[in-house]
Amino acid sequence: MAFFAGNCFFPLTLSDSHDIALGMLNVTQIQRRIAQLQRQLLELGPVHPGSISEQYNVCGQPGCRCKDAKNPQKHGPYYQLSFTWQGKSSTRFLRPEQVEPMRQKVANYKRLRELMNEWVSLGVELERAERARAKQQNGD
Ligand SMILES: [Zn+2]
Repeated sequence: MAFFAGNCFFPLTLSDSHDIALGMLNVTQIQRRIAQLQRQLLELGPVHPGSISEQYNVCGQPGCRCKDAKNPQKHGPYYQLSFTWQGKSSTRFLRPEQVEPMRQKVANYKRLRELMNEWVSLGVELERAERARAKQQNGD
């Protein structure tokens, strides 16, 4: 899936003790990457949290194919969206024509979270890089 490709590029959790010698990004590189993330965030379409699942049901009708003794064929699939937002959980059915648009929104939401996490990580990394640069300027 091209949608999620190409944003994994370096570890962000190295501590200060590892220092710049390990080829960590400098201030300019970090700022450039943050600007790139901001553009990607702006390009995201509609978002929605949650996940979509398929349900198959048995009905109450006597002699229905869903209760066939040898080869039961349940009704469905029915698509269900489940999500928790601000502490409140919701589940609801989606009409067939709502499934693909909702899949895209859920994917966009996942992408939003990834981009945000990366931005915050880069904020932490930028702080480190700025400290390292200041130390260098004072020391030499
Ligand atoms: Zn049935």
